[in-house]
Amino acid sequence: MDRRKFFTNLGLTALGLPLIKSAFGEELRAAGASLAAGATGKVIVVGGGMAGTTAAKFLRLWGGTGMDVTLVEPNATYYSNIFSNMVLTGERTLSQLSFNYSTLISKYGVKVQPYSVKNIDPAGKKVILSNGTILSYDRIILAPGIDFEPLALSGTASNKAKIVHAWKAGSQTTSLQNQIKAMTKSDTYILTIPPKPYRCPPGPYERACVVADYLKRTKGGGKVIILDANPAIQAEPVNFNNAFNTTHKGIITYVPDAPVTAINADTMTVTTPKGSFKGKVINAIPTHKAGDLIVNSGLGLANAPGPNSVPNKFAGVNVLTYESTAIPGIHILGDSSATTQPKAGHIANAEAKVCAAAIIELFSYPDGSTVNQSPVTNSSCFTPITKTTASWLSVVYKYQNGVMVATGNGVTESNGYTSENYEDMLKWFNNLMSDTFA
Ligand SMILES: Cc1cc2nc3c(=O)[nH]c(=O)nc-3n(C[C@H](O)[C@H](O)[C@H](O)COP(=O)(O)OP(=O)(O)OC[C@H]3O[C@@H](n4cnc5c(N)ncnc54)[C@H](O)[C@@H]3O)c2cc1C
Repeated sequence: MDRRKFFTNLGLTALGLPLIKSAFGEELRAAGASLAAGATGKVIVVGGGMAGTTAAKFLRLWGGTGMDVTLVEPNATYYSNIFSNMVLTGERTLSQLSFNYSTLISKYGVKVQPYSVKNIDPAGKKVILSNGTILSYDRIILAPGIDFEPLALSGTASNKAKIVHAWKAGSQTTSLQNQIKAMTKSDTYILTIPPKPYRCPPGPYERACVVADYLKRTKGGGKVIILDANPAIQAEPVNFNNAFNTTHKGIITYVPDAPVTAINADTMTVTTPKGSFKGKVINAIPTHKAGDLIVNSGLGLANAPGPNSVPNKFAGVNVLTYESTAIPGIHILGDSSATTQPKAGHIANAEAKVCAAAIIELFSYPDGSTVNQSPVTNSSCFTPITKTTASWLSVVYKYQNGVMVATGNGVTESNGYTSENYEDMLKWFNNLMSDTFA
């Protein structure tokens, strides 16, 4: 029944995982995007994460050989953030979450530049790479993900180095895994959640659950304190409330309205308006902003206050094309953009397809007359709650008067967490990642 609820919410007509695959793939075209044949143009895609990789692939898949696509990404390996909480508990390794660009090159003919973009010259339509190479473009897609505001962190350099976010999968994930592994049942793990908007709304609560489950299973107990800058749980409130108060009762303590004001890494103390908390491990996720490239290029909405009075340093875009509202010819995708949609990998993949389709149209009809005026996107997140159970959330967005509006009842969450959901989660992940990287 829960699986049916998931597909119903996605607007799909039948059951079965192949349909998830089609929702990731050709669904958009079926939904109305008839792509211009024979379009030609030169596109640079910056950032080979969930958004950028999908955009590069689908520009070639849908646009054909007339699309000259170059992906600029400094890392040869992309480590998926999705499932990285399970690395903390030893159920996955980082290498199992690693992806590369070889299929993008061999199957789709995308060129890859293994550097980062240092500067953009929008007037000259050029970018400068970290090795000094200058590339020109007709249109550019920026998908550099997120960066962070500095934490109010004090202490010796070696103690400060232990305070990690592990919110970009990689070396910090390994550091946090080792710190959690070294805990005993009398130790406390503190997780601080930044004010929204942050990437993956259910992600921190998921992390608290899997760490609590791990401590109970492997250490015979322990404490998890969640210090949330937000006034309430930001996603799947029913399932997480239930998990905190039943499944992980006695281990998890949830403290809302507790933004971090200071962290002392020498005494391992976090200070908030709700009091000071000491932990053996402090996992502090700082306030987010768009990738530095966006902010440094003047594409962020620096003066627009975000929710909870957080300065909104994400980029304004037209959600029909994901073109910047500040500088024409630049498209911004994924976590760096400021839209009504969440910052998440599944929807980054969907946004990238909308953008790729629009760019192909714009090359043939620069007046935009053929750009799809009714794009549909969806976001889904599966959430492990224990080693064997998971929940999910799902929401479909449709374009309405300039914004993407959640349809139906908005975000739907699963009826509890089950082993069947856990199995579906594994298939969902494989489909999403192969739709992006394969
Ligand atoms: C613990 C955790 C769990 C999550 N679980 C889920 C989930 O279940 N479902 C879900 O949908 N989402 C989930 N997410 C969120 C998801 O991972 C992100 O929202 C998604 O990766 C955003 O995609 P992106 O392309 O915007 O950024 P990223 O995937 O972070 O990619 C950005 C890329 O840009 C590159 N880059 C940055 N700057 C430059 C530059 N100057 N030049 C060139 N390249 C550059 C980076 O190297 C990186 O490869 C989770 C996140 C976390 C942290």
